[in-house]
Amino acid sequence: MKTPVCVLGLGLIGGSVLRAAAAAGRVTFGYNRSADGMNAALADGFDATADLESALTRAAQLSALIVLAVPVPALPALLEQIRRLAPDCPLTDVTSVKAAVLDDVTAAGLAEKFVGGHPMAGTAHSGWPAGHAGLFEGAPWVISVDDHVDPTVFATVLDLILDCGSVAVPARSEEHDAAAAAISHLPHLLAEALAVTAADVPLAFALAAGSFRDGTRVAGTAPDLVRAMCEGNAPQLLPTLDRAMALLAEARESLATESSVADLVNTGHAARTRYESFPRNEIVTVVLGEDDWRRALAAAGRAGGVIRSALPTPDSR
Ligand code: NAD
Repeated sequence: MKTPVCVLGLGLIGGSVLRAAAAAGRVTFGYNRSADGMNAALADGFDATADLESALTRAAQLSALIVLAVPVPALPALLEQIRRLAPDCPLTDVTSVKAAVLDDVTAAGLAEKFVGGHPMAGTAHSGWPAGHAGLFEGAPWVISVDDHVDPTVFATVLDLILDCGSVAVPARSEEHDAAAAAISHLPHLLAEALAVTAADVPLAFALAAGSFRDGTRVAGTAPDLVRAMCEGNAPQLLPTLDRAMALLAEARESLATESSVADLVNTGHAARTRYESFPRNEIVTVVLGEDDWRRALAAAGRAGGVIRSALPTPDSR
């Protein structure tokens, strides 16, 4: 039987994980702090409670995989309860920063059972009603391969990721955070800046079309979630912002003095073209638990490798 799944936080992401895991035939149940979210999940036929203690007691009885699906600031209090009621359950998360979460999990004494995760999927909407079972279909989902990671817990978390229809991208937490700063957190701040800049120009919203809509889409995300992502990843986001501001400052200077933005436009176009042809090779040869398996997976992930099916273990070969 597949490992049961207990999701803590039935919002957009947690609610979608619960639905996808149930659709894959697993025993699933969830906890949501507010009665609204719990009732919405119950009304759709899912097993949900607003009583954290009962959810965690049940998770401990079933040795369920616990999925943390709340914003970063909510983690320490939940981890404390997990340590008290379900310390032996395998544990993962879906949070958009990884190093800060690993620090919280380590502080709670739960690192041994923890393998971090981050699905690279979402919408600008929140809450249970915004989710659906297909949200993660085909999306990359980061799975952490930090030094402490246990191969059995890794295989358990990988199995859930694959059941959600995602491809797993192995990465170390700090490398994930540097990449997330560049491809997620910086785009959020640029989208906010774009929206504010246009709001200052009287006719702008009347003319706004595709470029504005696409460029500002993520500015529609709930501000507290954007703040939690960006502020939780400040050490990586600051140098990334510096780089983007330097590029814009150079483009501004060149536009003012040479009437040209050629450098930024040409290098930007070349980088975007490279992204479109970036390889996505399948990782099949790494054996979980063998010498150097974490380092091998991190290197493969960096090179564009993805995991599309269960990896071998020393026993399964
Ligand atoms: P959401 O607002 O839809 O859901 C948040 C959930 O957390 C809700 O169930 C809410 O009740 C719960 N929650 C909030 N504060 C809490 C607290 N103090 N104690 C207990 N529960 C609390 O948000 P979401 O988009 O599902 O985000 C959840 C996590 O997923 C976040 O960590 C976010 O970084 C991550 N994530 C979001 C996206 C995205 O695009 N929205 C993508 C990938 C990962």
